[in-house]
Amino acid sequence: MKIAIAGSGALGSGFGAKLFQHGYDVSLIDGWEPQVTSIQQEGLHIDINGSMYHFDIPMYRFSQIPQSEVYDIVFLFPKSMQLKHVLEDIQPHLHNQTIIVCTMNGLKHERVIRNYVEEYRIVRGVTTWTAGIDKPGRTHLMGSGPVEIGSLVPEGKDNVKVVVDILNKAELNGVESDNLHQSIWKKICVNGTANALCSILECNLATLNDSSYAKNLIYQLTQEIVHVATTDDVYLNVDEVFEYLINLNEKVGPHYPSMYQDLIKDHRKTEIDYINGAVAQLGKENNIPAPVNAFVTNLIHSKENQLNAQ
Ligand code: NAD
Repeated sequence: MKIAIAGSGALGSGFGAKLFQHGYDVSLIDGWEPQVTSIQQEGLHIDINGSMYHFDIPMYRFSQIPQSEVYDIVFLFPKSMQLKHVLEDIQPHLHNQTIIVCTMNGLKHERVIRNYVEEYRIVRGVTTWTAGIDKPGRTHLMGSGPVEIGSLVPEGKDNVKVVVDILNKAELNGVESDNLHQSIWKKICVNGTANALCSILECNLATLNDSSYAKNLIYQLTQEIVHVATTDDVYLNVDEVFEYLINLNEKVGPHYPSMYQDLIKDHRKTEIDYINGAVAQLGKENNIPAPVNAFVTNLIHSKENQLNAQ
C-alpha cells in the first residue's frame, strides 16, 4: 500500500514519521523549498514526545513527484489556503479508489476535495496531535491524539475502517467518530476562540483566561459557532462548551496557539477564513448572524496586512 503525505510541514511530517516508523511505504510531499531540500539531503529529524528520531523518508517536491508514483491513501496536511493547489498537484498520482484523508483544521474542506474525488473516498476528521517546525527538516510531534475520523456518506464507512486500522498500527490513535460533524464543530469551537483571540491580543491561553473581557469574547464567539453548527445538525450546549474551553485554556495555559506562532512569530498568513470566516460565511448562507466571528476575521486580516504576512 502506497501512502502520500501531501503537505509535509509540521503535522504532515509528524504523521509521515509515525507511518514510516511502523513500516508503511510512505512519501512526504511538500512545496516549501527549505523543508524539501533539508529532508532530501539530511532526512527528517523529529522529536516525538521528547525522544529524537531520524528517518530517511522519500521526499518529493509537488512539481517533481515521479510519474510512476500512484498512491492508495493520501493524507492532506497543507494549510487550508493551499488545499486546492495541493489537490491539483496530487491528482495525477491518484487511482480511481484512492482514499483522501483530511484532518486539517477548518470547515467544509470537503466542498473543495469533492471536485477531485467522489465523496465516499473522502475520510474527514480532526486531531488533537500537535506539531511544529523547529527549523526546516527538524520538527516535533506531541501528544497522543486521537485522530477522530468518519465518512461523509454511508458508502465511505469501509474506507474509514481502513484508515483507522492504519492509524492504529502506526500508534496515531485512530478512532471512528460516531458523529463526524459534531467532532468537527467542537474543534472549530477550540480553534475559533483561542487561535484568533491570542493572535489579536498577542498572549498565551492563560492570559486570555485572566481577562473577563476576553472571556466574554470567547463566550460570544462560541455562542455564534454553536448556532451556526445547527446547519450541520449539530446541537451543542453553549454553556457546556464555554466551560470546556475555559478549562482547556487553563490546562495548557503557557501555550501559544498555532495561529499566534504563524502570524505573530513567523508573519505567515493564517487559516482564519476557514475557521471564524467560514462560520460567518455559513451563517450568511443560512441567515444566521455571526457578526463577532466576521469582526474577528477582519481583525486577523488587518493584522496580516500590518505584518506583511506571506
Ligand atoms: P505547516 O504550516 O507546518 O505546514 C503547511 C505548509 O506550510 C507545508 O507545506 C510547510 O512546509 C509550509 N511551511 C511551514 N513553515 C513554513 C514557513 N515558515 N514558510 C513557508 N512555508 C512554510 O502546517 P501544519 O501545522 O502542519 O498544519 C497542517 C494542517 O493541519 C492545517 O490545517 C492545521 O490547521 C492542521 N492542524 C495542525 C496542527 C498542529 O499542531 N500543527 C494540529 C491540528 C491540526
